[in-house]
Amino acid sequence: PTPRARKPDWIRVKAPMGVAFTETRDLMRRLNLSTVCEEAACPNIGECWTKKHATVMILGDTCTRACAFCNVKTGMPRAVDALEPQHTADAAAELGLQHIVITSVDRDDLPDGGASQFVKVIEALRRTTPNTTIEILTPDFRNKSQAAVESIVSARPDVYNHNLETVPRLYPTIRPGARYYASLRLLESVKRHDPSIFTKSGMMMGLGEDRLEVHQVMDDMRSADVDFLTLGQYLQPTPRHAKVIDFVTPASFNAYAGIARAKGFLLVASSPLTRSSYHAGDDFAKLRAA
Ligand code: SF4
Ligand code: SF4
Repeated sequence: PTPRARKPDWIRVKAPMGVAFTETRDLMRRLNLSTVCEEAACPNIGECWTKKHATVMILGDTCTRACAFCNVKTGMPRAVDALEPQHTADAAAELGLQHIVITSVDRDDLPDGGASQFVKVIEALRRTTPNTTIEILTPDFRNKSQAAVESIVSARPDVYNHNLETVPRLYPTIRPGARYYASLRLLESVKRHDPSIFTKSGMMMGLGEDRLEVHQVMDDMRSADVDFLTLGQYLQPTPRHAKVIDFVTPASFNAYAGIARAKGFLLVASSPLTRSSYHAGDDFAKLRAA
């Protein structure tokens, strides 16, 4: 059977439609912005774009890596777009975002890994939409991570997210360009540089990880002082990508959420369709109001 045929009932998504969806898409095209919603083939695009929530993917639409789970295209990226920071801020203003999530492709080809573009985007957002809270989801910046993290942290995003994606045992097949402990150290160093920034990380489930391994990753995150956790079901974007080993049930996602809260995470989102940016603004607003 095709992966689509095997999808369980709880993976049900809204079809993309309606005026707001089209307006979101047209705005991104007009401002020459890429979104992870489209490039990663996110299953929530119908719901999010209808609410005018979109996650901008800066530094172009072409990644220098090829992770086994990711739909973003791989190759030699184009030159960095100098207008992208202001265009991102203009999009936040036009969409009326209270909270924006900014992510990027990996740019191992750039001397700073693309860190300075994150800084420019944060600065443009602070100027243009000063009331919008900013969450960034960065790559690992490979061996430039110290300088990259320092510069980005100095620009003071509200939330710094970097995903561990999966358990360490599966890195060689799922995330071959990355190192588990390097990603963990990156998260730890954000907190060390500025303890007032919330840190966040997440994992995809259904890649063959077992329960105790997931608990261990949670413990590792907490020992790096990670504040927020997201867990969602991995879905195979095309037959060329890593296979889904199992579909984690909603009950198991709830059980993981309970364990994560007991381990001390301040915010936990754990459900089949959870993605890093799914409802991120609503959850963050609730936390700030509490
Ligand atoms: Fe975009 Fe995130 Fe919504 Fe997916 S969950 S459509 S990536 S905003
Ligand atoms: Fe996708 Fe990020 Fe891996 Fe690039 S580094 S292939 S954008 S997950």
